[in-house]
Amino acid sequence: MSYLQVLDKTFIPLLSESQILDRIQNIADEINQDYKNKQPLFLVILNGSFMFASDIFKKLSIQSRISFVKIASYKGLVSSTENPITAIGLDQNLHGQDIIILDDILDTGKTLYRFVHDVVLPMHPNSVKIGVLLYKPKACVFDIKADYVGFEIDNRFVVGYGLDYDGYARNLPEIYQLKS
Ligand code: 5GP
Ligand code: MG
Repeated sequence: MSYLQVLDKTFIPLLSESQILDRIQNIADEINQDYKNKQPLFLVILNGSFMFASDIFKKLSIQSRISFVKIASYKGLVSSTENPITAIGLDQNLHGQDIIILDDILDTGKTLYRFVHDVVLPMHPNSVKIGVLLYKPKACVFDIKADYVGFEIDNRFVVGYGLDYDGYARNLPEIYQLKS
């Protein structure tokens, strides 16, 4: 892998395709073990997580379902300092279900924190776990932890494998980080 130019930014290789797929196999093995007698429902947060979700889902041997949601916030509809969020495309009742949320990256933690507290927990699922491909421990300021983590990475912007810069670079099978 060599330098990657996306619009005005230069990126350097961080994780190869085989590193990513090997790690995803390990996570899938763990999930297969943890949910042996259960039928979890995966909630995938779009757009960035589509490749991660697809690769992990192919490696599952348990009976499970998958649903894709897009997070939006109701800007200006309420007079609160924190805009509530809504999950577009979430048509299931999560009551009593074993939920595994998949996201591309845990950065500040805001998205996952709000999704879990505003959308998922109020529906009273039986259990909730979170899986992320990437985790930036130095960036995370919300009280949220992932149960399955692919890689801990530095607090630098990354692209590839579903993650974009201004809409581009999602198609790359490996992950790159912004060159300093
Ligand atoms: P949060 O700050 O709420 O944890 O992250 C929200 C979303 O911002 C992530 O799900 C991801 O889509 C995007 N994001 C955070 N860090 C990065 C990054 O380094 N690169 C890219 N492409 N997206 C990121
Ligand atoms: Mg995302």
